[in-house]
Amino acid sequence: MLEEVNVPPLSLSSYEATAGQEAVAEIRRLAEPLRGARVLHVNATKFGGGVAEILPTLTGLMRDVGLDAEWRLMPGDERFYNVTKLLHNGLQGMAVALDAERRDTYRETSERFAAQFEGDYDYVVIHDPQPAALRSLRPSATGKWIWRCHIDLTAANPDAWGFVRPMVEAYDAAIFTLPDYVQPDLRVGVLAYVAPSIDPLSPKNMPLEPALVDDVLYRLGVDPHRPLLLQVSRFDPWKDPQGVIEAYRAVKREIPQVQLSLVGSMATDDPEGWRIYRDILRFAGQDPDLTILTNLDGVGALEVNAFQRAADVVLQKSLREGFGLTVSEALWKGVPVVGGRVGGIPMQIGEDVGGRLVTTTDEATAACLELLRDDQLRHRMGIAGRERVRRNFLSTRNLRDYLRLFNALRTGDRSLVPTGELA
Ligand code: UDP
Repeated sequence: MLEEVNVPPLSLSSYEATAGQEAVAEIRRLAEPLRGARVLHVNATKFGGGVAEILPTLTGLMRDVGLDAEWRLMPGDERFYNVTKLLHNGLQGMAVALDAERRDTYRETSERFAAQFEGDYDYVVIHDPQPAALRSLRPSATGKWIWRCHIDLTAANPDAWGFVRPMVEAYDAAIFTLPDYVQPDLRVGVLAYVAPSIDPLSPKNMPLEPALVDDVLYRLGVDPHRPLLLQVSRFDPWKDPQGVIEAYRAVKREIPQVQLSLVGSMATDDPEGWRIYRDILRFAGQDPDLTILTNLDGVGALEVNAFQRAADVVLQKSLREGFGLTVSEALWKGVPVVGGRVGGIPMQIGEDVGGRLVTTTDEATAACLELLRDDQLRHRMGIAGRERVRRNFLSTRNLRDYLRLFNALRTGDRSLVPTGELA
């Protein structure tokens, strides 16, 4: 059977203080008819990137409300991940060549894992393209099968999409973050729209004492009492690390005390990371106020939390972004974000709510300067951003939407299918 991942024991009741009584009561109501249902989530990695961030909480909370939920992995090897990263880039719009050999690698790995697939489930949720072929390779497996796409497919390269589409069409339902992400030729029984979420109680997002925040930063070579710009992202060209460094340099000409930290983890399914990390180091050069840190420097969830709390402005200057959990993570800490006007970022940052949307490096520079120079504006935007996250982007809302979709598939009642509307 596919490798199982440990899931933290969570209690929905402890989310009442942030999500509110009503939200928790609705979840319990929706979970009642699903009691005992066997749910399986499958993705490619337990570490790195947004999906691995969401699944522990989602699975843990599903268990707490009475579902028999599991999280399992389809961990490929380097050859497979080279192909799936290419596929991922193609789905985000890059011109990539999925030649016959690469297609074979994808198929062979998928077949190997499909052969290991065991068990009877009521709901199987397959996340992203890496394990997407499992459904078509196990057509007689029980339960309702859902493909959860975390990627923005708006500009998908036709070759990459053409490769994935028949696999997706074997599912009972597909979930996208936004209606815009769905390619018009997709034919699937049920289409649902669900935004991702952050866990307000996880080590990444829980409250931290200011003294601890300062201590973490000092130890990692950053002065918490000088202005700090921060981007937390996998090392990936779509996150535009070079643009972030250029914006920081332009800001520094006006505000010489400013610092920049780039915090980036290495995901196990992302072979590009190391090459890009070295490119960024080279581009950054010798600047004592520019720190580049990875999980290999001991930057785990708690340290990311501390950095996000210490930052004056968080950047997420992505060129393409399925959602961008890092935006909600920063907003939840009351820190405004300068974010790329792409994908899921505009859902999180509105007019004067949570920060500024930008397209160019010059716009990012101007937005950082505006925010760094105006304490009240930063504070106001941070508070409004936090409330937007509380209403829309916490794990409880995500859990509610999954339960609605499971009930819709169980009863055939289409009115329960989540539409992604924001509160
Ligand atoms: N992340 C982290 N350490 C890092 C870089 C990223 O913990 O050094 C986390 C980040 O806090 C967020 C997730 O990885 O929770 C990235 O999710 P996002 O949706 O922003 O982007 P993705 O990596 O899925 O494209």
